[in-house]
Amino acid sequence: MRKKIVAGNWKMNLNLQDGIALAKDLNTALTADKPNCDVVICTPFIHLASVANEIDSNIIGLGAENCADKSSGAYTGEVSAEMVKSTGAQYVILGHSERRAYYNETPEILKEKINLALANGLKVIFCIGEVLEERESGKQSEVVKSQLEGSLFDLSVEEFKNIILAYEPVWAIGTGKTASAEQAEEMHAFIRSAIAEKFGNEAAENVSILYGGSCKPSNAKEIFAKANVDGGLIGGAALKVADFKGIIDAWK
Ligand code: PEP
Repeated sequence: MRKKIVAGNWKMNLNLQDGIALAKDLNTALTADKPNCDVVICTPFIHLASVANEIDSNIIGLGAENCADKSSGAYTGEVSAEMVKSTGAQYVILGHSERRAYYNETPEILKEKINLALANGLKVIFCIGEVLEERESGKQSEVVKSQLEGSLFDLSVEEFKNIILAYEPVWAIGTGKTASAEQAEEMHAFIRSAIAEKFGNEAAENVSILYGGSCKPSNAKEIFAKANVDGGLIGGAALKVADFKGIIDAWK
């Protein structure tokens, strides 16, 4: 059975003290009321080691929001997958649309990052999704398929076991506009069929595919009820314990 997962993406929010406080409060809330799914928080690099000390790793997983496409060396300001892993983190988000759009991360760069993350024992939450014009011109499936092909299709079936997919229509991220549960299900089913074609039915059945894009406590239950939706990648609503827990509780 594939895992149900709710993952938070803090983005570039919260200073270290506020991040630690949020992690602590979330840990307290989920210790008192155990989740029915895997929970992961992905934080800025500088928060990772401190947050790792505040959370029970049996209840909350920890991830970075990015890692470098080089393993080590003279790359000022970069943070390697090995460094991420050494903080106690187990996950890394790669391919987020903000990284693709603002930092020119191409499928080839993402392929390098994925290889390094996997080689260092991290699980990758790999984001894919179309922009508004692509959806309006009916190209969303083509776009998502080419994002999968461009960065993941050289992996072995064994390596692919450490990939979690997040379908995030770019027009729904941070906009308050959510994909309908039907739109999410249609795309998730398409993604699963593309994975089956490439990696086989077992890999397709086992891969968790998360929905991301203005997910809130008020819409999570309806979206997560769809057969091919295995949870969510949550931005804004991951910054408040009550909202994030409200989404986690959609699995109850
Ligand atoms: C995200 O950035 O991954 C995301 C889903 O953001 P939001 O929930 O704020 O739309």
